[in-house]
Amino acid sequence: MIPTLINTFSNCSLIFMKTTSKFSKCIRVRYQHSLYDMAIIGGGIVGLAAARELILRHPTLSFVLLEKEKELALHQSGHNSGVIHSGIYYTPGSLKAKLCVRGATLTYEYCEKNGIPYKRCGKLIVAVEREEIPRLKALYERGQSNNVRDLCIIDAKGIREREPYCRGLMAIDSPYTGIVDWHLVSLTYGRDFQAAGGTVITEFEAAAISSVPESPAGDTSGIKFPISVKSLKGDEVQCRYVLTCGGLYSDRLSEISGCSPEPRIVPFRGDYLVLKPEKHYLVRGNIYPVPDPRFPFLGVHFTPRMDGSVWLGPNALLAFKREGYRPFDFDLWDSIDALSYRYSHLCYLDILTHTVKTRIASIIHFGNMLVIQSTRISK
Ligand SMILES: Cc1cc2nc3c(=O)[nH]c(=O)nc-3n(C[C@H](O)[C@H](O)[C@H](O)COP(=O)(O)OP(=O)(O)OC[C@H]3O[C@@H](n4cnc5c(N)ncnc54)[C@H](O)[C@@H]3O)c2cc1C
Repeated sequence: MIPTLINTFSNCSLIFMKTTSKFSKCIRVRYQHSLYDMAIIGGGIVGLAAARELILRHPTLSFVLLEKEKELALHQSGHNSGVIHSGIYYTPGSLKAKLCVRGATLTYEYCEKNGIPYKRCGKLIVAVEREEIPRLKALYERGQSNNVRDLCIIDAKGIREREPYCRGLMAIDSPYTGIVDWHLVSLTYGRDFQAAGGTVITEFEAAAISSVPESPAGDTSGIKFPISVKSLKGDEVQCRYVLTCGGLYSDRLSEISGCSPEPRIVPFRGDYLVLKPEKHYLVRGNIYPVPDPRFPFLGVHFTPRMDGSVWLGPNALLAFKREGYRPFDFDLWDSIDALSYRYSHLCYLDILTHTVKTRIASIIHFGNMLVIQSTRISK
């Protein structure tokens, strides 16, 4: 394990790379003050993908990615269902629809090129009640308008052929949907960013963003790099542009960068159940219910994972900490923020109704839930 010094285009910051496995970690050993063309705040998949793309498009500029944790992608990007969505759900013509459809293809290409394992195991969206069929058909039309690949409608017999232990009246079959470890994808983006000359600074929690004060005589850095990003510990980065990609703290970063804190983040935690290993044969690909258009969720679903396990979830439970993964995690500031948000009571009511409904629905529709261990997956 030989430490290597990397040049950070800075006046006095030293970053050492320590090779631990296929992926390298950045360890900050001494840090005071640095100058960059652009600072990206947040080392989740959004920040890492943006940083990677920016440095590849503008190789002559200097970039730094600032992450508050010791490691990259520890939050949403490392805690999700691991599905490569094919783009069925979004409003045709919307940016989300275009990005999702194109993103799926780019994801498969990127995984192939970088040796990241994935499975194109497909997905069924299953209608189990007659009243769901018009919504299922409308969803299918949406998927067609979005140019989702290989989409088709199948009947009860088709469902049994695709998923022998699943029962339903009609389903959308999306063979282009897949699964991947998004945490690994995020780390690989980070590796590309660093290989292209980008700097990653971990344990830098951006706490203040401001214009730099007047520079001392002869120092022009304040003119060239007019933005100052300060960490909680008092470290500082100066730059020309800032891009914030703070995930569950995006509203607070928006606020400290002089923009609106709204919409606010109201935290809900999603728990998953895991199928007993001896019952894995029950589920081949992703199995989703027909989503209820009143809620911003795709519904509780079965998802095979890259490690061979099968998860059922997520539910949505009110959380008292934004990045809290255990039932009793609590943060006073996060709780006050959520409870005082003027729209939060609507969220709670909606989600409570949804959770109760989907839990009941899961038990009725997926009788096999009875064979699921009541283990919570809370990494
Ligand atoms: C339960 C669940 C299941 C999901 N399933 C899927 C799925 O199957 N497929 C799919 O495509 N998507 C899925 N998603 C969505 C997907 O995970 C997220 O959209 C994505 O990970 C968001 O990435 P992000 O970079 O915006 O946020 P994050 O991954 O949360 O990253 C934000 C980063 O910013 C850092 N940060 C925050 N504040 C600061 C600060 N002040 N200074 C420095 N750093 C800071 C955080 O530490 C964090 O590392 C799911 C999401 C959830 C919650």
